[in-house]
Amino acid sequence: MKNIRSVRIARFLLSIAVILTIVAAPFNSVFAQKIRIKKESMPTKSGDARQRANALLVQMTLEEKIGQMNQLFFFGQFQKPDSMFEGIRKGQIGSLLFVTDPAQINQFQKIAVTESRLKIPLIFGFDVIHGFRTIFPVPLATAASWDPKTAERNQTIAAREARSVGINWTFAPMVDIARDPRWGRIVEGAGEDPFLGSVMSAAQVRGFQGEKIGMPERILACAKHFAGYGAAEGGRDYDASYIPESQMQNVYLPPFKAAVEAGVGSLMSAYMDLNDVPATGNKWLLQDVLRKDWNFQGFVVSDADAVKNLLAHGYARDPQDAAVKALNAGINLEMSLEAQTYVKNLGDAVKKKLVTEKQIDAMVLPLLEAKYKLGLFENPYVDQTKVDAILGDPNHRDAAQSAAESAAVLLKNQNNILPLDKNSNQKLAVIGPLADSKRDTLGSWVFQQNTDETVTILEGIKSKLGTKARVEYTEGVQIRRKFPSFFDALFGSKRPDLWTPEQAEDEIKKAVKLAKNSDVSVLVLGESQDMSGEAASRSSLELPGRQQELLEAVTATGKPVVLILMNGRPLDITWAAQNNVSSILEIWYPGTRGGTAAANLLFGDANPGGKLPVTWMRNAGQIPIYYSHNTTQDPSLQGKRYWNEESVPLYPFGYGLSYTTFAISNMKMNKTQIKPGDTVEVSVDVKNTGNRTGDEVVQLYIHQQAGSASRPVRELKGFERVTLAPGETKTIRFKLGKKELQYWSAATKSWVQEAETFDVWVGNDSNAANHSTFKVVP
Ligand code: BGC
Repeated sequence: MKNIRSVRIARFLLSIAVILTIVAAPFNSVFAQKIRIKKESMPTKSGDARQRANALLVQMTLEEKIGQMNQLFFFGQFQKPDSMFEGIRKGQIGSLLFVTDPAQINQFQKIAVTESRLKIPLIFGFDVIHGFRTIFPVPLATAASWDPKTAERNQTIAAREARSVGINWTFAPMVDIARDPRWGRIVEGAGEDPFLGSVMSAAQVRGFQGEKIGMPERILACAKHFAGYGAAEGGRDYDASYIPESQMQNVYLPPFKAAVEAGVGSLMSAYMDLNDVPATGNKWLLQDVLRKDWNFQGFVVSDADAVKNLLAHGYARDPQDAAVKALNAGINLEMSLEAQTYVKNLGDAVKKKLVTEKQIDAMVLPLLEAKYKLGLFENPYVDQTKVDAILGDPNHRDAAQSAAESAAVLLKNQNNILPLDKNSNQKLAVIGPLADSKRDTLGSWVFQQNTDETVTILEGIKSKLGTKARVEYTEGVQIRRKFPSFFDALFGSKRPDLWTPEQAEDEIKKAVKLAKNSDVSVLVLGESQDMSGEAASRSSLELPGRQQELLEAVTATGKPVVLILMNGRPLDITWAAQNNVSSILEIWYPGTRGGTAAANLLFGDANPGGKLPVTWMRNAGQIPIYYSHNTTQDPSLQGKRYWNEESVPLYPFGYGLSYTTFAISNMKMNKTQIKPGDTVEVSVDVKNTGNRTGDEVVQLYIHQQAGSASRPVRELKGFERVTLAPGETKTIRFKLGKKELQYWSAATKSWVQEAETFDVWVGNDSNAANHSTFKVVP
């Protein structure tokens, strides 16, 4: 998509700036007291919800139905609440997003349920991506924990906090597979693999929604962006994707299907063209796959302004055509900044017989049903008296800390420099632009955080060491995006001025001097949070700014260096990894308690156990590079690939070290032959062979040796994260049945399970060495 969101937002802001005075709109709290708060009702039975939705639908005018299909942004910082009143009163707005003040939510809701003709409550949506007030590690980091329980717990807490202020619905999980780290949104998903991605997808849906839609303290989830957004050409956000159906079915769609199977209530359509048909107007995706093949009964919201933008794609000839095409494709709810393509055009389109009212009914029904399921008709308001206790719950911060600890990946630890000894390093240098930046520690999709309560890495180290050591900090370099982020444009954030070239030289010298006078240097380098996320693609992946120079200069002192990476995508750290830096710890954007977690990991009070959810390239020229590729030749024939670079990555998918060591052995299979549809069981023993308690992620990969289509060299089909005390052994069991062994064949254009021989490997990364085979026989 050519007109990126920053442009849309800038235009939107400009237009409202003309009409509105900028108001902080302090809200009349007396009003809140007047609202009668009912007790949390129990969820409505789902069969019941559909019946009630049908009964309501027959009472609705066409305009009211179309109003339910309209979702608008409301930015309290810029817009006056009364700009929304009339639309709500007239039933022209079914949902608002970005309202996070509970009093404001209650005010809007009161108008909807007391002043609109049919008293249909609004549903309030928000991007609760990796936390609300308590910020958890970014989703890519959580995927690196390879622990679905952590993912589920994080989103349970995020749901609890968001629900406490009146939010009913999150635009998460983002389950786009991403095999191109130039694409900034790789940070929002679970990485490159459909199996890991599906496990994380389902876990997050369970976390947000609970057992079913409408549970107390839970919110509706929304799997996004349906589908193929992660394959944007050149890694350029919003650009078109071209994905063959076999890859759609085998790679890009499974995490969405997992979300649907976990009961997700909604999906969001993607922005881009998929094989020349915009995802927001794509009947194949939204009807054939989603509703027919998967029997999805919930609703689909468009991404922001994606209906209007069907014009920009050159797909719709005018706004009415865009509305008709999106409706025909299966978009139930239009999210827009101001376009309101549905509201403005669908009534007339019915008159002109471009669409039927019956079609509109079919699209509105799941929206009403969701409102019933959420209990909004019985319990439309939020109880403002509970907000502070829930947002202040210290257990939430503790959970964020343990999530950050389990997400960290130890990439390198030559000579076991880590963990550092708390007592012997008397002089510690902490260097780098991200070491003491609270905002960067949190990551990109955060709006309601309390930045002050965020613990930076410097603060974490200082509070761990107390008076035991001298900890000194210097920034070393500054980093900045070349083009400002859209959140900067939106919220008018001010960044500190950049140093002059002379100052910049002096700062590097200062850092080197500090390193020389210290026993060990901890460098915290990576990307500032706004360098990852939406509209945050990069054409190269080196450490931005002069960070590489700083790293080299500090390393040249000959003093031990620990590199902590704070980022949301693999970066080109080949220089550091190859010879030069002894220890590298990937901490990602670790969230509210990131600094405490980092200090625990540095000093051995926590042991890294995370594994890469994405292949780590040597440099951007290798992209796309992912472990589950097809091959025509033995990959060891290097010269046939690049003559200037190895064709293998720097670190494989699934890789990560620990402060202890593990041995995986004794691989057994209960059968060597099975019939299609039967299951083979694989077991291995994993032993902690070191002298610290630690976590290992045991991973199982398969390869189908022949078939109607070529199959990837390896595919992840099972994993388990286990904690083992020194000397302890556990037996891990995996099952391989039809679900794991079938695939969508490009040759037959269908799902097949073929009678062929399969390789199986089990180990602790995608180069797993324990090997065996079994056959599926007819
Ligand atoms: C993003 C979505 C997000 C929506 C609402 C869009 O620009 O692509 O992921 O949910 O904005 O903020």
